[in-house]
Amino acid sequence: RTAQEALTRLTVDVPDWPEAGVTFKDITPVLADHHAFSAVITALAAAGRDDHGTVVVDKVVGMEARGFILAAPVALALGIGFVPVRKAGKLPRAAHAVAYALEYGEATLEVHRDGIAPGERVLMVDDVLATGGTVDATRRLIEACGGTATGASVLMELSFLEPRTVTGDLPISTLLTI
Ligand code: 5GP
Repeated sequence: RTAQEALTRLTVDVPDWPEAGVTFKDITPVLADHHAFSAVITALAAAGRDDHGTVVVDKVVGMEARGFILAAPVALALGIGFVPVRKAGKLPRAAHAVAYALEYGEATLEVHRDGIAPGERVLMVDDVLATGGTVDATRRLIEACGGTATGASVLMELSFLEPRTVTGDLPISTLLTI
């Protein structure tokens, strides 16, 4: 509830950014407020625990770029490792790549092949779930490594974009649904 309240109070709607007709949710004021940042990290990390508080995942994956800021402290809170999923061409060693559709065109995400070991259970963390394309592509990267995507934990879901039609039956926990 504190996390939800902080998100509602501090997120700034930026009309017509990055292009006309899109309202961008700017979460940087949430990060700049220590209490809000701390509350959202605790709330995001809950998706990696069962009802008894036991950690039930092996790795946390964060998606470039805002996902990094949230996923790394979630990994530390859960006491497990962090793995970056990056845009094409950024990772220095052998990587799996998955291409996915954007509203206009295509993008590619990559993960180091040895970033996730076969059989590992992986939680994805990102700021905003919009069309669902990023989460779905990241799930495929986790599976390409032989891991299991247990779910995604995000600050905000833009439900009017119907992301769950893309992410399917993957469990997604959302602190705030818009
Ligand atoms: P999707 O792939 O679900 O369409 O878009 C999600 C990705 O784009 C996330 O990595 C997220 O950071 C970014 N994104 C899309 N819309 C917004 C927005 O309104 N605010 C923020 N902060 N990120 C967004």
